[in-house]
Amino acid sequence: MFFNLWVNTNVTGKTKAMSKVFDPHEESERHDAELDNEIRPAGFEQFRGQDKVVENLKVFVEAASMRGESLDHVLLHGPPGLGKTTLAKIVSNELGVGFKVTSGPVLDKPGDLAGLLTGLEPRDVLFIDEIHRLSPIVEEFLYSAMEDYVIDIMIDKGPSARSIQLKLNPFTLVGATTRSGLLTAPLRARFGIACHLQYYDAEVLVGIVTRSAHILGIAITSAAAGEIATRSRGTPRIANALLRRVRDFAQVKGRGEIDLDITRFSLEALNVDRHGLDKMDNAILTTIIQKFKGGPVGISTLSTAVGENAETIEEVYEPFLIKEGFIMRTPRGREVTELAYKHLGFVKSTDGRLF
Ligand code: ADP
Repeated sequence: MFFNLWVNTNVTGKTKAMSKVFDPHEESERHDAELDNEIRPAGFEQFRGQDKVVENLKVFVEAASMRGESLDHVLLHGPPGLGKTTLAKIVSNELGVGFKVTSGPVLDKPGDLAGLLTGLEPRDVLFIDEIHRLSPIVEEFLYSAMEDYVIDIMIDKGPSARSIQLKLNPFTLVGATTRSGLLTAPLRARFGIACHLQYYDAEVLVGIVTRSAHILGIAITSAAAGEIATRSRGTPRIANALLRRVRDFAQVKGRGEIDLDITRFSLEALNVDRHGLDKMDNAILTTIIQKFKGGPVGISTLSTAVGENAETIEEVYEPFLIKEGFIMRTPRGREVTELAYKHLGFVKSTDGRLF
């Protein structure tokens, strides 16, 4: 039951739990999407953290608005759940223009994209999530749209088939990716603005949890907000999801208010790691310790051993493990630190044996 809950809040997934075991929470689960909309910041002022990125975007948005032009295309990259979709929507709100959303894997053929592009009003924002997963043919079709606001479409079939050029309204493409390394050079070059989102410090996450609790009408102590923040893997999506689950526990098992005791009890029940590490984070550390004597180990060997794609390890898991001091990157590969041994409860003897 609790494992499923955890799957639900896992960083790598906007995925929902796979089986239906935890009936008592179904109601709250159904409402999660609605609640998510309520707590999603709508303007730069409500968006916490990522100061540099926000500062720059504010300037670019204001300058484009003053000129009455569309904002240059924006690429947002960083691990899942850090606010890429939120920022894209904020940009459109602040520009005072329309917002359309799609995602790389959904766009099968150029025609899918053509429909979206021709429907854009002047200066609208088109958000493409997982832009690294666009098919090459759709990506190529996007180039002229981004560069000159024109697209070539084929009309008719057979011998009378011909291509005509359609003029589009100037628009802003906001692309989001967790895997910037997979973006082709020509696509990357067409973004005038590129922003990298970082994991959040616990302090900023406390602010996010407190704000979300306020909007949802939940009473929470600052110690409880701090506990949720430090166990959220530096990720607002996880912090908000944990807040909602802890609220369920407080409602059923506590006195309604979220205090430190009920928070610790809930996080224990949800199997949330003390440092907010998820299953794959722990699998990576355990594998390096048990199979590779703590490292160094090359990324491709590690990837095979844990059964996860090497780029995903590099771009989604490793940055957080390095930031928190569990892993070091050395020229010979990845090495775990003493903190990792301690965290997983391993004791290493002087001759390298594990206990
Ligand atoms: P991504 O697109 O990077 O996967 P989202 O934009 O969907 O992430 O954000 C995930 C959730 O976290 C959203 O529900 C949003 O409300 C919340 N969130 C993200 N960043 C912030 C922030 N800086 N301040 C407040 N809430 C945030």
